[in-house]
Amino acid sequence: LHVPPRRRMVVSRAMSAEAPLGVTPAAEEPAGRQEAVPVAEMVEEAAVWCAVHGLVVGDRAEPRSGTVPGVGLVHAPFSLLPARFPASFWKQACELAPIFNDLVDRVSLDGEFLQDSLSRARQVDDFTARLLDIHAKMMEINKEEDIRLGLHRSDYMLDSETNSLLQIENNTISSSFPGLGSLVSELHRTLLNRYGKTLGLDSKRIPRNRAATQFAEALGIAWTEFNNKSAVIMMVVQPEERNMYDQYWLINHLKESYPLVICFLFCCNFKLLTKTLAQVEAGGHVLPDGTLVIDGQTVSVVYFRAGYSPNDYPSEAEWKARLLMEQSSAIKCPSISYHLVGTKKIQQELAKPNVLERFLDNKEDIAKLRKCFAGLWSLDNEEIVKTAIEKPDLFVLKPQREGGGNNIYGHDLQETLVRLQKEQGEALAAYILMQRIFPRASLTHLVQGGVCFEDLTISELGIYGAYLRNKDKVVMNNQCGYLMRTKVSSSNEGGVAAGFAVLDSILLT
Ligand code: ADP
Ligand code: MG
Ligand code: MG
Repeated sequence: LHVPPRRRMVVSRAMSAEAPLGVTPAAEEPAGRQEAVPVAEMVEEAAVWCAVHGLVVGDRAEPRSGTVPGVGLVHAPFSLLPARFPASFWKQACELAPIFNDLVDRVSLDGEFLQDSLSRARQVDDFTARLLDIHAKMMEINKEEDIRLGLHRSDYMLDSETNSLLQIENNTISSSFPGLGSLVSELHRTLLNRYGKTLGLDSKRIPRNRAATQFAEALGIAWTEFNNKSAVIMMVVQPEERNMYDQYWLINHLKESYPLVICFLFCCNFKLLTKTLAQVEAGGHVLPDGTLVIDGQTVSVVYFRAGYSPNDYPSEAEWKARLLMEQSSAIKCPSISYHLVGTKKIQQELAKPNVLERFLDNKEDIAKLRKCFAGLWSLDNEEIVKTAIEKPDLFVLKPQREGGGNNIYGHDLQETLVRLQKEQGEALAAYILMQRIFPRASLTHLVQGGVCFEDLTISELGIYGAYLRNKDKVVMNNQCGYLMRTKVSSSNEGGVAAGFAVLDSILLT
């Protein structure tokens, strides 16, 4: 493994509170970098900063932490210093955001394409089948979404083999961490303002991160486009959510920090509801004119922070709720079409030759998108399945799932492919194969539960994008901040909520 000098301090894994820790050997360091950096002090300062600035999650150790706000909080897992990231790749990733926003919108309008592309997956994957059923129902009634809101996050890794920025996936539902991600950039800026000189790191090289305020702004403007002053914004949440503070940050910004909409919202008695799918089913109905009413209140925007995983639908009630909302005239973020565009299968279909051309006109945009596509294959390609069985470490096997922890790697990938091949029928159609991306590993200080340890890590950069359209008018098509996630390089999966990664920010190089 190549280990670039990303993080300069070297600490023993078990941090001792009194140990001021030295930097890496002189050979790698510019002059003036030999000074000891008080890592323990930094960790403590960072942890306090998290607590007083709301960079927090519910603590697994406290059973009520996922249901009762303000109970059992712990600082979100974070890296002590921002990850170095080349400015050219940063610029490339930012430029892609509005293009992906546009692509999602265009693809969402082609119902046949979505149904056809996912038709084989539906035969073997009940969850995909249920989503497609809702989508098919909307097609039958020629349901049109005049106002379309997308709050996406496109994730990338830097592939060390090809020295290129490659997309991992584009999330179109429940893109998480706009709230906490913005705060990590602030945390790192604060730490570098204090320790940057000693470390030789300039806080100005951390890009501003306004993901939370910009997402809140997008929700607020969607609400104004809906043009019903008494209507509420509803956030659909999981019954238990340890990441609730990330969500509350958006609510907080909506209520307090969005200066343009704020006075408008307040004089109109602006309200925000938080409901689970089950609560929507119990208290919701759609009026004959399409108005979605929950507990007697008209809903303008439904913002999903749940509904992306089969676990979110433990009974028919949740599916009923999803259908009910889809049938209504409320703005869905995402609509069922936007949700489907974000599936792994559609990602793979879009990477096929001449498919982007069906949806986009601008050749430069198409070239930019294609440049960031990794190898993606459907499993009806026997040649690639054979290669993947021979060289499993060069691939990732992905089912149609979201939320981390679902992909299959290495030996398991090999076994799974061999088994699925033996099974008759369409079993393979539930998955796609993806080229495995190999980011360069670097040493990082990770802080979890107040404990700092150092490990070899790799990082994944997410770029948020907000898209709002009202009929022919594109009201908003923006890149909105970013999220760096860093995980120990020996771990395959990357989710922070799933416990695999820590929140990070970037230092442009
Ligand atoms: P999910 O929707 O569950 O987040 P992802 O496609 O993002 O699914 O995969 C989860 C994690 O697996 C990513 O965050 C990343 O760490 C890792 N991963 C996914 N695809 C690749 C790949 N092609 N190469 C290397 N790692 C990958
Ligand atoms: Mg995802
Ligand atoms: Mg992901």
